[in-house]
Amino acid sequence: MRHITHWIDGKAADASGARTGAVFDPATGRQVAEVEMATAAVVDRAVKGAAAAGVQWGRMSLTRRMAVLFRFRQLLDDGAGELAAIVTAEHGKVRSDAAGEVARGLEVVEFACGVAELLKADHSVDVSTGVDAYTLRQPLGVVAGITPFNFPAMVPLWMAPLAIACGNSFVLKPSERDPSASVWLAERWADAGLPEGVLQVVHGDKEAVDAVVAHPQVQAVSFVGSTPVARAIYQHASAAGKRVQALGGAKNHLVVMGDADPDVVADALVNSAYGSAGERCMAVSVAVVVGDGTDALVEKVADRGARLVVGPGDAPASEMGPLVTRAHLDKVRGYVEAGVQAGAQLVLDGRQHGHGGDPAGFWLGPTLFDGVRPDMTIYRDEIFGPVLCVMSVGSLDEAIALVNANPYGNGAAIFTNDMAAARRFEVEVEAGMVGVNVPIPVPMAYYGFGGWGASIFGDHDIYGPDGVRFYTRAKKVTARPLAHRGSLSFPTNQ
Ligand code: NAD
Repeated sequence: MRHITHWIDGKAADASGARTGAVFDPATGRQVAEVEMATAAVVDRAVKGAAAAGVQWGRMSLTRRMAVLFRFRQLLDDGAGELAAIVTAEHGKVRSDAAGEVARGLEVVEFACGVAELLKADHSVDVSTGVDAYTLRQPLGVVAGITPFNFPAMVPLWMAPLAIACGNSFVLKPSERDPSASVWLAERWADAGLPEGVLQVVHGDKEAVDAVVAHPQVQAVSFVGSTPVARAIYQHASAAGKRVQALGGAKNHLVVMGDADPDVVADALVNSAYGSAGERCMAVSVAVVVGDGTDALVEKVADRGARLVVGPGDAPASEMGPLVTRAHLDKVRGYVEAGVQAGAQLVLDGRQHGHGGDPAGFWLGPTLFDGVRPDMTIYRDEIFGPVLCVMSVGSLDEAIALVNANPYGNGAAIFTNDMAAARRFEVEVEAGMVGVNVPIPVPMAYYGFGGWGASIFGDHDIYGPDGVRFYTRAKKVTARPLAHRGSLSFPTNQ
């Protein structure tokens, strides 16, 4: 059995003999590895090592820090295929999807490579005679990242490159369900010449997370995961005086206007609802049809969904892989049953969909419900599986009201050729990321990623300009290079 250990001070930490967790291949249902679960003592060791390493790293010149970033970028690009295979093996997503997540992570590394430009700050000359005022943007020290299972490579890459580029050391606690991608990334950082201790990886579950969040030397916490955990982490970490950005779950709507091409919309819905088995925080899980086109659209989606090839992520023909664990599969199947019981029309039943994999794998095919109402759990809850709900409304007003009444506000999209309708939607919809004829509007690295409402706690997006602000603090300097004797009165401009 493969044994996955923490990465502390530049090397795989010795197996501690402590509690371990099971890692599965979702396509076979078999355990493929065991992962160490960090205790508070292990977390303390990692944070202290990061704090010690961070002192020098934070003072290292931008030129040298950037050289490490550029080398890491090259190693990540060279090893993208290897990393994608690791993602598929533990997460289950198909290889092209895993390659896509590595590519999106790489974009953040490339953004972080420009840190010299990003850290340029203000400078005002002669704010008073012979007096200058300017800002230094300095690192925080040790910052931590806690990441979800669904993007085991991309989400750590949303955080660590920018935190490290800004001069911090970074303690990563990845999902215990697919931890190997983080270890691979840590090895590449070491190969790139990152000093030991600047990036630490500790594995584990709530026990490890609680220890990270409570540690007095951790100055800031970046979290991505489900809403209840995001909310709790925001409350605990901010009560302890730490900076926090905590991104939570989602229920993303795609509004279909009557003028939109039904084939284009059906393709978009199938890709965004069933890609990665619906285990994407930006997956569309609700289609809101304006007008009377529901029946025709449902037929097209059902037809395409029924033909999707479900199978192991490493089989070239597979278009959709399994769910991540048996427990998650059972939860999603429970929602399908709940939808039927609540009276929604089950147009496509993923429980009956064939698959080309091991019967013991965690399989569920594309599932489609029509006639969904806002009071049903399949609408209210984030299911995080290949389940698409279809609802019908009479007008754009009603569609916007429906989206805005939902507590989540991660992404929302509209499909239309009516630019006036699109503009109204983008201005009035309560969501942090909006797509116009784009079903999964994940912003580029230089914009920043973050939802609204129950999809985020804290006031900083991940990556982009907000990421730079989150991982640095401003020091405002007022300097009189030529010192002279002043009076005791409050300084006034001269
Ligand atoms: P999760 O909340 O179960 O786990 C996320 C992290 O928190 C993991 O590292 C896990 O070990 C830890 N954790 C789990 N339970 C905890 C607890 N009780 N106390 C402290 N730490 C705990 O989420 P997940 O199932 O790994 O990922 C899926 C969720 O993440 C979905 O809700 C999805 O929408 C969300 N997500 C959101 C975004 C976004 O950008 N908003 C991106 C990706 C995923």
